[in-house]
Amino acid sequence: MSLIYHSTRDTSLTATASAAILKGLAPDGGLYVPSSIPKLKKTFKQLSEMDYKQVAYEVMRLFLDDYTEEELKYCINNAYTTEKFDHEDMTVMVNADGAYYLELYHGRTIAFKDMALSILPYLLTTAAKKNNMKEKIVILTATSGDTGKAALAGFADVPGTEIIVFFPKDGVSKVQRLQMVTQKGENTHVFGVNGNFDDAQNGVKAVFNDKEFNEEIKKKGYVLSSANSINIGRLVPQIVYYVYAYTRLMSETVNFVVPTGNFGNILAAHYAKQLGVPVNRLICASNDNKVLYDFFETGVYNRNRDFILTESPSMDILISSNLERLIYEAAGDKTEKLMQELKDKGIYSIAPSMKEALSGFTGGFACADEMHAAIKRLYDTEGYVIDTHTAVASAVYNAYREQTGDTTPTVIASTASPFKFGGSVLNAINGTKVDYEKCDFMEVAEELSKVSGVSVPKAVSELKNAEILHTGVCEKDGIKSVVADVCK
Ligand SMILES: *Cc1c(COP(=O)(O)O)cnc(C)c1O
Repeated sequence: MSLIYHSTRDTSLTATASAAILKGLAPDGGLYVPSSIPKLKKTFKQLSEMDYKQVAYEVMRLFLDDYTEEELKYCINNAYTTEKFDHEDMTVMVNADGAYYLELYHGRTIAFKDMALSILPYLLTTAAKKNNMKEKIVILTATSGDTGKAALAGFADVPGTEIIVFFPKDGVSKVQRLQMVTQKGENTHVFGVNGNFDDAQNGVKAVFNDKEFNEEIKKKGYVLSSANSINIGRLVPQIVYYVYAYTRLMSETVNFVVPTGNFGNILAAHYAKQLGVPVNRLICASNDNKVLYDFFETGVYNRNRDFILTESPSMDILISSNLERLIYEAAGDKTEKLMQELKDKGIYSIAPSMKEALSGFTGGFACADEMHAAIKRLYDTEGYVIDTHTAVASAVYNAYREQTGDTTPTVIASTASPFKFGGSVLNAINGTKVDYEKCDFMEVAEELSKVSGVSVPKAVSELKNAEILHTGVCEKDGIKSVVADVCK
């Protein structure tokens, strides 16, 4: 019997793991969740003696149990190579200022999205074979910056796929934009959307939910799938590094602090906890767009507020899609109603009796000044340089530690290389307010390299002479016609 996934909005809509990965989103617009959480087949002691790929297999086999051992190992061995990652453990853990920074940015696009998006194309094309699918898979992705490039890098020239990425035209950093618009590959398509991330994400969701359109393109030989973290093929590989990190520490308990946007990364930590990792607190760190902090404080989710562009753009999100999976744990069959309220009114609240399911989480947020101070503090005390997203988590953790006196060993998810947001990092370290977006990005990178003692990553230096290959711009209601154009 294999593990069954079902929609958060209708438990009768079921799928195996490979079918859920192919579909991305359930047909009713809900998200696939496992009907039960499996248990690890190995002890933590045994896992602590394994390398990253072995731990990956032990975790992923539980959630993706309709893949054969051979299929899963093929996916893992092709994704986690020293060609795609600059470290043989894929991740690096740095002990600094009383916390463990789990660097998840050693993949090709220097953000943690590579951890999952390097394997998703293999999981997806294997799933297509298993399910006898003949159509070409079209990956539709809305990105707040980092997913786009990681998905493009993962899917470029993968046979049987096309990939279309939509990013908020003025809502990503210069390096993020350059990374996307210089992407090579016959099957890659990149568009700037006149709007913010939520506009792009809603536009993409509307295309997924448009039954008629999906039938039309199916006749032409295409099916849509998603590389966003709503796809369980994204979530499952992210559970791995929480298990891996814990088995390197083997402490009695552990806290995880996660800089959060779409709630995918921290949800993976929550699943790791349900697998048996002895987690004390899951600390959900937000920037000024603190919808999640307010939600954990009050039980009210309210997206009716100004969208704030921050220096941690990958967390500038007012609708955290993956929260729906946690809401399902709290609200069960009331999930659909709550999500409808979110869509219609932009607000919902959960009953006090439902709050139990959220009790493992602590919300926190950091404003720009606090985020800058966290970068400077780590640099001044340890000479260690972190990016703006990780710094939000670092600031939230410092405040949490001061308020609670909690001394549990704590892992902070370090989600991007500081070189991806070099200008903001330099300003924080130097106490300046230079508009680095106006400067040559290579000069910024070289200055940061001097300051940090880390050489400029290839992911940045290779942009220097890269040709701009994508110049498309569309309106938020023009997303469907862009997709139609690819699926001709
Ligand atoms: C995507 C991203 C986040 C947010 O992760 P979610 O899974 O969307 O919560 C945080 N930091 C960086 C650098 C990211 O790219």
